[in-house]
Amino acid sequence: MSSNLIISGSTCGFTHSCLSLCLCTDMSTKVAVVTGSNKGIGLAIVRALCKQFDGDVYITARDVGRGEEAVKTLNSEGLKPKFHQLDINDLNSIKTAAAFFKGKYGGVDILINNAGTAFKASDPTPFGVQAEVILTTNFFGTRDMSTHFLPMIRAGGRVVNISSMLSVTGLKQCSPELQQRFRSEDITEDELVGLMRRFLDDAKKGEHKQHGWPDMAYSVSKIGVTVLSMIHARRLSKERPNDGILVNACCPGWVRTDMAGDKAPKSPEEGAITPVYLALLPPGATEPHGKFVSDKQVQPW
Ligand code: NAP
Repeated sequence: MSSNLIISGSTCGFTHSCLSLCLCTDMSTKVAVVTGSNKGIGLAIVRALCKQFDGDVYITARDVGRGEEAVKTLNSEGLKPKFHQLDINDLNSIKTAAAFFKGKYGGVDILINNAGTAFKASDPTPFGVQAEVILTTNFFGTRDMSTHFLPMIRAGGRVVNISSMLSVTGLKQCSPELQQRFRSEDITEDELVGLMRRFLDDAKKGEHKQHGWPDMAYSVSKIGVTVLSMIHARRLSKERPNDGILVNACCPGWVRTDMAGDKAPKSPEEGAITPVYLALLPPGATEPHGKFVSDKQVQPW
């Protein structure tokens, strides 16, 4: 008997005898996914992974045209990234991408949550509006990604959340009570989400400073990313102790991109070094895990 197989939307034209081969090929291929990788640090991370990671590497972008242009750029350098649409502010987009990677590969080996946004210092948009936009992407979008992708990170997987040194700066400017919660080992994801929502409410009312928050929405969003990484690391250690998955937050440094401008000292390739180091921590490594890392060094939190 012969039959055609539909695998992730593509038809296998071979006979039934290739069933195990077809499934096996994708299921045994390792895969890395980088959010917001059509430009900037994300694109540089994909470039480095294409050279150093033995598996498929996905550029993902919210805009298909910009994503495909990025693929062409790397193709012209002799690299072969793949592409999937992914808008971290769109739950349907996240779910569709998660289903794609689950169906095609059975899971994900490397997830780099890189997509992020910021306002220029000179931008006149009111603080409360900026705070909403920034937290929606940097914290809540990254959290939604984690909700749908963490359960399918394979044993030995690596999760890297791109935070910022500004999370450390912002933490130091928080009230002692907030600092204590953000540094505590028992903070839950629900409590963290509640605190981020509280910041947004305070910011919209112009009361964030009097309630102990720093006057920088970007810093608060990255405090959220750093603490979320620590929470997820603790949870994975508890719930999947034998799977050897490592989760970390990191700062890429001050990097010349559309976000940070052309005066920054690091090139995107230099900005990719620490995220790629964390993504390629060797099999069997046990640390860093649940840390904030900059220039490949664990930083005090
Ligand atoms: P960038 O050049 O502005 O790139 C940001 C990327 O994120 C773009 O690809 C953008 O896509 C994407 N993005 C934004 N919102 C998205 C969404 N909802 N869904 C999917 N993708 C989305 O910035 P960058 O400097 O490379 O920043 C990368 C990461 O590093 C960010 O998390 C940033 O906060 C962090 N970081 C940067 C610096 C620095 O000095 N550059 C320092 C510390 C941390 P579009 O092209 O469609 O807008």
